[in-house]
Amino acid sequence: ALSYDEAQKVYDDIDRSFHLTPERLFELTKSFLHEFSIGLREYGHPMAMIPTFVTGVPNGSETGTFLALDLGGTNLRVCEVVLNGDKTFSLRQQKYKVSESLKTGEAEALFDYLADSVDAFLTTHAASAYTTKEEEDVVHLGLTFSFPVEQTALNSGKILTWTKGFSAKNAVGRDVVQLLQEAFDRKHMHVKCIALVNDTVGALLCRAYTAGGCLLGAIFGTGTNGAYVEEVAKITKLGNHPAAAKGGYMIVNTEWGAFNNSRSHLPSTPFDNTLDRLSINPNFQAFEKFVSGMYLGEITRNILTALVDAAPKPLVFGGKSTSVLNTHYGLDTSVMSEVEDAWEGPHRSYSAEQTAPDFSTFDEEKLPPNIRTKLERIRAVTVKQLGFQDSDVTLKDAAIVRWVCSLVARRAALLSGVAVATVLIQTGYASFPDQDGVFSPRASTEPILIGVDGSLIEHYPNFQRTLRESLRCLVGEEVEKRVDIGMAKDGSGVGAALSALQSLKQG
Ligand code: ADP
Repeated sequence: ALSYDEAQKVYDDIDRSFHLTPERLFELTKSFLHEFSIGLREYGHPMAMIPTFVTGVPNGSETGTFLALDLGGTNLRVCEVVLNGDKTFSLRQQKYKVSESLKTGEAEALFDYLADSVDAFLTTHAASAYTTKEEEDVVHLGLTFSFPVEQTALNSGKILTWTKGFSAKNAVGRDVVQLLQEAFDRKHMHVKCIALVNDTVGALLCRAYTAGGCLLGAIFGTGTNGAYVEEVAKITKLGNHPAAAKGGYMIVNTEWGAFNNSRSHLPSTPFDNTLDRLSINPNFQAFEKFVSGMYLGEITRNILTALVDAAPKPLVFGGKSTSVLNTHYGLDTSVMSEVEDAWEGPHRSYSAEQTAPDFSTFDEEKLPPNIRTKLERIRAVTVKQLGFQDSDVTLKDAAIVRWVCSLVARRAALLSGVAVATVLIQTGYASFPDQDGVFSPRASTEPILIGVDGSLIEHYPNFQRTLRESLRCLVGEEVEKRVDIGMAKDGSGVGAALSALQSLKQG
């Protein structure tokens, strides 16, 4: 049989394989910057650095009423946005489910469904303004489409590839605005799609509208991605495009979820490799698979099942499993959130020589009362969410579950910090430390505004704190403190409205 020490070694090895040293974080940031530079220079790179043709950042004085349609993750949303012109807005919205068969069937059926949803929204939810409009009046709509698109203008762009579980046929290579407009036209709807944005651009525009400016919009939800304000002069692949001659600034959608598709930098564990191999897009969206909500639960499940299956002795749950644990994507990231919430306390401090908590000396009888209470709570979450019998889960199992969750989430949050630091360095707001580890940031006390959205950053305990820990390491405390991260809730809707407004102004 496995001795206690041998069991502990397995836990320690897993723990170590998830560890990111400061040196590793620096290396990753450098590789990230390198991929940024290639993407700005050439088309067709995984780090797509997509020019969005959004050249202005709102300041909060914008006004108007627009429809917005948001496709990109778990739900489809239709909303009506009223920009009040004083940094505030009002919004009514309706969510619609996108079934698996729509995600993976014919594109035409998917876009028909989008049009139907807009139609349903207009008749049941929108303010009466629309229904009293003359027949010939068109309703202007902005589309938030959160998949990689090679944009050629504010109102057109070709779908490059699907991500996040979508794979609708006959869509890749086609203009997404046209696909949607054709669906509206098939149904004789008086709706015109005049702008196309990514959810990251939406988050950036939304935060800029409510805060008076913004450098970066980032999503940490089902997937992860970021868009930032870049100098047009640095987007050299624009070549002779008229936008290049105009100069100034343009929002670039990085598609950073694709970082490391070459698989040479990120420290993959066997649990990551299994996830990737069984995903619908092996070798793609490598960074996203380490970071985002769609995948963290699955990595956690892979670790837990490996511990269940461990031989010669199971290392968790007495070797029992459940249908949740046995099901591909059966463990949702929100369950990890719940487990960590139940702990409700300071997290482990991490040292260079990272090891797992010492489970070999774990003794239920000797637990301090406050720890026992926390572990009881985690046990209850585990029993309920993983579908165990009460007697199947010990307090030690609960401690192991929490350790696994924090391991996977901590790595995700540190890597998220790498992506943010890359943008700060790329835009000159930060620089790497010198050889002695000294940072010399530009003297300024101005806040660096970032708009974020997504369940992970909104709800996952300590996600933002760990992201900031990574930032502090990479760009220094002075810059990190100036970084003002704000939720851009409803960013997709408000961002689509703001870009529709910009499209109208451009004529
Ligand atoms: P989307 O990115 O699709 O617009 P969300 O931002 O809500 O939507 O992200 C959904 C993802 O977040 C899912 O992968 C889900 O597992 C995860 N998630 C949902 N609730 C939570 C939570 N409380 N904590 C962490 N992750 C969550």
